Amino acid sequence: MTSLEQKLHFDTIIERIEKARLRVNDHHIVKIVAASKYVGIEEIQALYNIGQRAFGENKVQDMKAKVDALEDLPLEWHFIGTLQKNKINQLISLNPYMIHSIDSLDLAHALNERLMREGKTLRALVQVNSAYEESKSGFHPDEFMQSYAQIGSECPNLQLMGIMSIGAHNDETKIIQKSFEITRALYDQLPHATVCSMGMSGDFELAIACGSNLVRLGSLLFKHI
Ligand SMILES: *Cc1c(COP(=O)(O)O)cnc(C)c1O
Repeated sequence: MTSLEQKLHFDTIIERIEKARLRVNDHHIVKIVAASKYVGIEEIQALYNIGQRAFGENKVQDMKAKVDALEDLPLEWHFIGTLQKNKINQLISLNPYMIHSIDSLDLAHALNERLMREGKTLRALVQVNSAYEESKSGFHPDEFMQSYAQIGSECPNLQLMGIMSIGAHNDETKIIQKSFEITRALYDQLPHATVCSMGMSGDFELAIACGSNLVRLGSLLFKHI
């Protein structure tokens, strides 16, 4: 794919996001985080050249390789995968912009402790398993509010910004929509939250309709390459 073709492809995605957000209202702004796990540094650089700045990685080792190789670019790195406790130090040393995937009190406490030791803070989203799927990480919706408040009071080095969820893995739109609506209802109750991270390549328009203001797009952006 030439760089022009890539730009045109990116433009069609942005148009789709634009239409979806305007259906919510004129002031509903949606951020794109490019989930770059499928690609290497050249593809990230190419998307950067078109104007994309925020990239998300699922694995700390992969993020490190890409952060190191692209350190001269003003990129915003988001950690979106499940974080193993033994990778916390390495993640913190990369100074990511935000972590989306706080999925247990244990992890929150461990991250907070290492951040405190380093004299750092980190923007964080708490993940909710609003699809009620065993294969998914995150707090159950019923325990989410209480856990969010607890992390907020016990982990001062985590700057809580909002909520993240992965839509239900299902062919039925209604079921995916339900999981997004659960996430949105929780988001609306959070004090001072500004980020509602939900929506991926297959369901981002529905997620935006349900109130998402950050979509994590991977295959749609990169899989055609
Ligand atoms: C891979 C990934 C995405 C992007 O998924 P696509 O369906 O490829 O757009 C979003 N969020 C998380 C947590 C991911 O791991």
